Amino acid sequence: MKIGKVEAIPLAIPFSHGGAPAGWGGQDWTMLDVVLVRVETEEGLVGYGEAFSYNCRRAVTAAVEDMVAPVVVGRDASDIAGLMYDLQQQLHLFGRYGITMFALSGLDIALWDIAGKAAGMPLHRLLGGAARNTIPAYASLFKYRDADVVAERTAAALADGYDYVKLHEIDEPEVAAAREAAGEGVPIMVDTNCPWTPAQAREMAARLKPYDLAWLEEPIFPPENFAALAALQAQSGIALAAGENACTAFEFDKMFRADAVTFAQPSVTKVGGVSEFRKVAVLAETHNMTLMPHSPYFGPGFLATLHLASALPAESLLERLYVTPEASLYGDLIDPVEGAFRLPDGPGLGMEPDPAVVADYRAEAK
Ligand SMILES: [Mg+2]
Repeated sequence: MKIGKVEAIPLAIPFSHGGAPAGWGGQDWTMLDVVLVRVETEEGLVGYGEAFSYNCRRAVTAAVEDMVAPVVVGRDASDIAGLMYDLQQQLHLFGRYGITMFALSGLDIALWDIAGKAAGMPLHRLLGGAARNTIPAYASLFKYRDADVVAERTAAALADGYDYVKLHEIDEPEVAAAREAAGEGVPIMVDTNCPWTPAQAREMAARLKPYDLAWLEEPIFPPENFAALAALQAQSGIALAAGENACTAFEFDKMFRADAVTFAQPSVTKVGGVSEFRKVAVLAETHNMTLMPHSPYFGPGFLATLHLASALPAESLLERLYVTPEASLYGDLIDPVEGAFRLPDGPGLGMEPDPAVVADYRAEAK
């Protein structure tokens, strides 16, 4: 089953989020960028993956087409482990983080989609699942920096059936507003996206402690300062979560050995795909860590995470970026029902991206 063709299909889907414009990655964030990685075997089997591409769509598209595709065309699509090892080795000189690993992640997801289709089984069956066929969702609110809007969006998410809410805020008034809106006992997480030095994080953790956070996410820059995370977690008594910026299981191994977090957050479109996520899951189990997959996605990365989560020994919460996309590649599957996602049962990832949405939202490649 040789790989005949690898193509990057960049999409840009506008979204609304109920607040003022905000930036991410140093730029305004107004589009859900999705780089689909379409792999076709010589026999005509087609698989889809997703390479992380929020605010880096063109760079990731180029990485897939210029760095990955030339190396893998003609290789055996069913030898996923061997192929991914070779690719990581061949491309290591371009860096073991960021754009290169995003592109490899997209390819790996597509190969698993093909493997499932070749076997006539959903991905979760190939992974030994599904222990569960619904996955609890949490609402991952956009970044607002406005306590009134945070309160309103928190209440809206709970009214929509979510049982858990995560904020992307860094100040006490917004966290207080969410707690006030949710009431006691509703799990609230706070994702800060690496804003603080270790000393600032200590001070802020003390201020946020009264709000009973289920976890505090990525409080320290740089994210790989595992010793500082470990010290903060021990000193603050607040459970920390991190991992969306860690690539490959090697990085998670260091994180776990440092006792840096309680919740590990591998991101299937960044970490190295389904293959690398599975290695992280095994490591997490041996270190008694709970996985809370990073998955603010609406493409194949979202589906892959559903299958992976269904095959984990312990239940994870699955992230749903609480925004409204103008269009969905997978119909209403992206929306939880009574606070939980449904696991698709078709072969491979379980669903094909809607061709009309792919056509309508195809973005410029370069
Ligand atoms: Mg995060």
